[in-house]
Amino acid sequence: MGADGAVFPYLQCVAAFRVALEAFELVLTLRQRRNFFSKKMRPEMEGLVPEEKFQKAQAYGKEKIDYGIVETAFNVTLNLVFYFTYFMPYVWDLSLKIMQVAKPEFDSSNEIVRTIVFCGVNYVVGVVTGIPFSLYFNFVIQEKYGFNRLTGLQFVKDLLLGGVVSAVIGLPAIVGLWYVIEWGGEFLWLYFWLFFVALTFFLQLIYPTVIAPLFNKFTPLEDGKLKDGINSLADGMKFPLKKIYVIDGSKRSNHSNAYLFGLFDKRIVLYDTLLEQNEGHDERILGVLCHELGHWALSHLRKTMAVALSHMLFISWLYGKTSQNVEMFQSFGFKDTPHIIGLLLFSEINAPLESILGLAMNWMSRRYEYQADKFASGMNYTNELAEALVTLHIENLSNMNPDPFYSAYHNSHPTMIERLEALGAKPRNMDLKTVTGAKETSTESAEKSQAEKKEN
Ligand SMILES: [Zn+2]
Repeated sequence: MGADGAVFPYLQCVAAFRVALEAFELVLTLRQRRNFFSKKMRPEMEGLVPEEKFQKAQAYGKEKIDYGIVETAFNVTLNLVFYFTYFMPYVWDLSLKIMQVAKPEFDSSNEIVRTIVFCGVNYVVGVVTGIPFSLYFNFVIQEKYGFNRLTGLQFVKDLLLGGVVSAVIGLPAIVGLWYVIEWGGEFLWLYFWLFFVALTFFLQLIYPTVIAPLFNKFTPLEDGKLKDGINSLADGMKFPLKKIYVIDGSKRSNHSNAYLFGLFDKRIVLYDTLLEQNEGHDERILGVLCHELGHWALSHLRKTMAVALSHMLFISWLYGKTSQNVEMFQSFGFKDTPHIIGLLLFSEINAPLESILGLAMNWMSRRYEYQADKFASGMNYTNELAEALVTLHIENLSNMNPDPFYSAYHNSHPTMIERLEALGAKPRNMDLKTVTGAKETSTESAEKSQAEKKEN
């Protein structure tokens, strides 16, 4: 507390920043929204995109952006209400009461159990408030544009499976973190960081081999021309390819994708939807893979990881400085200083820094996309990659009239036109294997994870 007994207004600062950031983002969103009303295709798009696909993409984009505005407004309001009604301290107190129902001897010294109950309650609140949006997004918007392949049963299954996976991985991680904080002492920041490094590598290891197969089926790619093509592409680059899989992305959506995984032996994963959309055009799939292999050859993943871990080191150091800040707890309505609450409050206070970092990461990612495109181009796949980019863009009804500011702020990938320009490719009037009623993935479905972030 200050000399006059006043507590620094952390809560008010966090709330003010949040409102300012959301207002800024809303301005960008409205700029993009206005672009979706345009009835006329940009000259660069003409001959590239069929007229009716353009109109459909515009309508779809507008509907998604309106949905986003409502969802954001709801979440921000809920967040502010939670801050100012001291909902978090209330849930913390409630957690103790829930524990005592199960076992009356529990008291506030049982902080680990209380932490687990607290996280459980928060998880449930998060899922429940998100369900109406998720339902509307998948079963109204996606359905209307022919994208949805989720059934009600699959939706419930994903929800339950997501809960189980979060509990199995999250709870031990939370308990581990609790001990790190409890025993950290002077070197808390260092142990904290090492804990995250270990956790990151562990997740990298088990995500593709253990978690992803829970949500999707991985089938080895059948023998044939495509497999031979991929193998010779990988051989030529000395890429340590172990196996090629096809994943049933179409179970939920028709969002198409391809990615690589494996720390040492590498695997290539192709979405069945990617194969479907490019049927009869294996060379386009090879173009996409050339781009993906470019990310590998140029060590993009390793560089991104190095940046992420350095960032984490800085955050850990910062956290070490604040973890004992009693005013921070008081400002948010807490009488004591539980470890998990300290972590949550720290992440709230750290939000401004994170949003700046997010911008920098997007910028870096866009540079890597250009570099990987250039790599594919150097392998003589310029036109094939360009055709694949156009096909994917059209099939997914992606943004065909992007606002430059909105796109620079939000996108980890350059726009299609920017990429085609950089490639120097103009695939006009190409043979489009339109799988009508192309379906796009729910951006919120459980399987969306690192895999999709590595997309293209
Ligand atoms: Zn890429």
